[in-house]
Amino acid sequence: MSRLRCQDAMKDVLRDYFTGMKSPLAWCTSAGPAEILRALGFEVYFPENHGAMLGASRLAAKYIPRANNIGYSADICSYLTSDIGAWLARETPLTAAYGLPSIPKPDLIVFNTNQCREVAEWFHYFGREFDCPVIGIYPPRHLESVTDEAVANVVAQFEELTAVGEKIIGHKLDAKKLAWTVQISREASDLWKRLLNMARAHPAPLTFFDGTILMAPIVVLRGTQVAVDFYRAAVEEMEALSTQKAAAVADETVRIYWEGMPIWGRLRALSDLFSENRAAVVASTYCNSWIFDDFDANNPLPSLARAYTQIFINRGEHAKLDYLAHMVEDFKIDGMIFHDAKTCFNNSNNRFALPQRLGERCGIPTLTLDGDLNDLRFFPESRARTNIETFVVQLVSARTARKRDRKGELQ
Ligand code: SF4
Repeated sequence: MSRLRCQDAMKDVLRDYFTGMKSPLAWCTSAGPAEILRALGFEVYFPENHGAMLGASRLAAKYIPRANNIGYSADICSYLTSDIGAWLARETPLTAAYGLPSIPKPDLIVFNTNQCREVAEWFHYFGREFDCPVIGIYPPRHLESVTDEAVANVVAQFEELTAVGEKIIGHKLDAKKLAWTVQISREASDLWKRLLNMARAHPAPLTFFDGTILMAPIVVLRGTQVAVDFYRAAVEEMEALSTQKAAAVADETVRIYWEGMPIWGRLRALSDLFSENRAAVVASTYCNSWIFDDFDANNPLPSLARAYTQIFINRGEHAKLDYLAHMVEDFKIDGMIFHDAKTCFNNSNNRFALPQRLGERCGIPTLTLDGDLNDLRFFPESRARTNIETFVVQLVSARTARKRDRKGELQ
């Protein structure tokens, strides 16, 4: 997982980002309208990124009970409970990583319920803590298709947000600056997409686990030139690896799709487990969620509204099935893992028979893996190991049978 040069470069990029944060500063959800905030002149901080840091550094277990003690249930989003718990302890991994004494104080807090209602509860908590204005964007939810009416609805909410932001920042939103910010956000998104799509090669030069590391700039720095420059260099590195047929997983035998949240505290262990079994996890809904093909500098607000409303998590079951079937075909997937994250039903798509319908449509096996994004009490590790190993064996024999059938047809 640390074999890439761009991962080292990313450490500097993130150090500059975190140590450079200063007022005026807005907090924003990870698929919120960061471009509007940046164009207004805010620095932007993303609490979900902080939640993922708490998970990856395995500090979540220390903080979740603190949030539980003040009434935030152990059953709800463990980003939320980790993050609120860390705040109650007045601690943050940003101190050890970057020397910051605390998470940054917001001048404005913005959330978008395109992903879940939990973010509203989470961000309002901090609005009360910091006595800070909180603005929610509430798009229509679970859409099969994103209509012009839905886009107009969200544009109107973006305009209200802009008016509040202008008051705080003390000047009007510059239309040219917004267009430029959308333009470079789109450039970063296109490069991110190109990077992820390189895993369509056999063997894949990168995996989902590399993606979970390399995604930080597209989450926290989209709408900046820094993100564009970072992904341009990352794409160059990956293209060189792909040309050399460098494999992320030695002797790649089967290709797997990861549906759902990462298990942040076990990324390395899982990456090693799949590698040992010669299985490459080549694509995921999660990493692809920060590809925004609709961003358009000529049509900033409507294109932001459309892009942020049509993210996978905000789609209906038919649209989700179509998307996953397309990914199976595109990445030549042998099997799909659905992560049932116990504290995030919003991003756990195994519970309404989607795996069964996908299996019927695409003819591939699926596996549901119990776990969680941050709360490792919900991740039965040894059972998961056995299930994954058995699943890979199943995929290998299904692949062998397919090859045999094709040979038989040719004779
Ligand atoms: S989508 Fe899930 S993990 Fe993300 S904030 Fe909402 S509940 Fe938490």
